[in-house]
Amino acid sequence: MSDTFFQPISGFELPRFAGVPTFMRLPHVPHGHERYKDVQIGLIGVPWDSGTTNRPGPRHGPRQLRDASTMLRAQHGVSGMRPFEAARCADLGDVGPNPADIMDSMERITAFYNQVMDAGIVPLTAGGDHLTSLPVLRAVARSGPVGMVHFDSHTDLFNSYFGGTMYTHGTPFRRAVEEGLLDPKRVVQIGIRGTMYDEEDRDFAKANGIRLILIEEFHARGVEDVMAEAREIAGTGPTYVSYDIDFVDPTFAPGTGTPEVGGPNSFQALQVCRELAGLNIVGADMVEVSPPFDQSGGTAFLGMSIMYEILCVMAAQV
Ligand code: MN
Ligand code: MN
Repeated sequence: MSDTFFQPISGFELPRFAGVPTFMRLPHVPHGHERYKDVQIGLIGVPWDSGTTNRPGPRHGPRQLRDASTMLRAQHGVSGMRPFEAARCADLGDVGPNPADIMDSMERITAFYNQVMDAGIVPLTAGGDHLTSLPVLRAVARSGPVGMVHFDSHTDLFNSYFGGTMYTHGTPFRRAVEEGLLDPKRVVQIGIRGTMYDEEDRDFAKANGIRLILIEEFHARGVEDVMAEAREIAGTGPTYVSYDIDFVDPTFAPGTGTPEVGGPNSFQALQVCRELAGLNIVGADMVEVSPPFDQSGGTAFLGMSIMYEILCVMAAQV
C-alpha cells in the first residue's frame, strides 16, 4: 500500500533538473522526524574516505550520487517493479564523519546505523570508501554474523597496510570476519582481478572458507550461473550486499580510486543485482564512487542505477 508521503517527486510535477536533490527524489527523513519510524528502507550517505590508501575522493560520492539519482524514474524498465509503492523509502541524510579521525568516524557511523536498526529500517548506503562497510556491519550484524555477496575487483581481506595500519579500505572484511560480523562460509566475493602485492588476502579467504570468484570464472560461466552459486552460498540467512563500483570495467566506471581493467560491462553490472532476488537482504551498500575522477559524471549515474536495481530487490521483500 503506497503512502503518498513516501513517493518521490515526479518529473512531471517538478522537472528533474529542479529542486533540492535527495536520493531518488525521496523525502528527507532524518532521525527525530515524525515519519522516521514508518520508513522501511533508508537511503543513507556516508561522505567519508579516510580509509583510502591511493587516490581519494569518495567523500564526495553521496552528493554526486544524489544529483545523479534525479535521472531515475519510479518504475523499473524491465520488471515493471515500482519500488516506492512496494516499500516506504526515504533519504535519511548523511552520517557526519570526523575526516581527521578514523576511529571516531567509525564510532559515529555505527551509532547512526544503530538508530536505523533500532527503528527496523533496512539501510541502503551510498559511500564513502570501502572501509565504510565495517562500521555499518557493526550495527547491521550486531545480533549475529551475516552472509555477504560482495562485488569488487579486490577482496579487501588484507591484514594491514603501511606496516600495521589495521583500518583501511583494503582491510574491512578481514576485520569483519575477526569481529564475528561475517560468517565466512556464507561469503562470496565476485569479480576479483588485477595485479597484486601478494596472496595474503587469498590465503585468508581459503583458510576461512570464503568463496572467491575470479573474473576469468565470471566471464566463462556468465552472470546467471555465477549468481545461482552466490545465492546458494549466502543461503536463506541474513545477508549483506556490498558493491564496490570498481567491480565494473573502468570503461564504464572510471570515477574510482583503484580501477582494474577486464571487468563486467554496465549491463552485467545491473544484471548481477537482479539475480540477488530471493536473498534475505539486511543491508546493502554502493561504495568507492569518486567524483574527482568522474569527469563525465557517468560513474555516479551507473552507481545510482545499481543502487536502484538493489533497491528493487529489497523493496520486493520488505
Ligand atoms: Mn572494495
Ligand atoms: Mn575494489
